[in-house]
Amino acid sequence: MSSEIEVDVTCPACLFKDVVPVFTSVNVTMDPDLRDKIFDDELNRFNCPNCGRSMVLPINLMYHDMDLEFAVWFSPQSAMSEEERSVVDKVARSMDIGDYLSKAPTAFTWEDFKNKILEFEQQE
Ligand SMILES: [Zn+2]
Repeated sequence: MSSEIEVDVTCPACLFKDVVPVFTSVNVTMDPDLRDKIFDDELNRFNCPNCGRSMVLPINLMYHDMDLEFAVWFSPQSAMSEEERSVVDKVARSMDIGDYLSKAPTAFTWEDFKNKILEFEQQE
């Protein structure tokens, strides 16, 4: 299952406050359209309605493909500045961890995250 939460975001450019729905896990076997959103750079992004700033939200995210049996973590916090970290007030994640899930690699940037997904898909 994919899980979605809402986070309070303050735009770092204009301080506009908004509540943004974000995913903490994406199961593309059950929600294949979410894979498209990731590769279209539409998932877990904040697009400020006030000033137009767009950025990837520093939310831990697990990508899970049950058919191809792989998973990839997106863990951006470690590469974030203190200011960027303060943008997000809460992060929640809950999921069952299976055998291959515990071996899932971690990506620290959005580009790296997409590349790791493509690498797994090309191995099949
Ligand atoms: Zn803004």
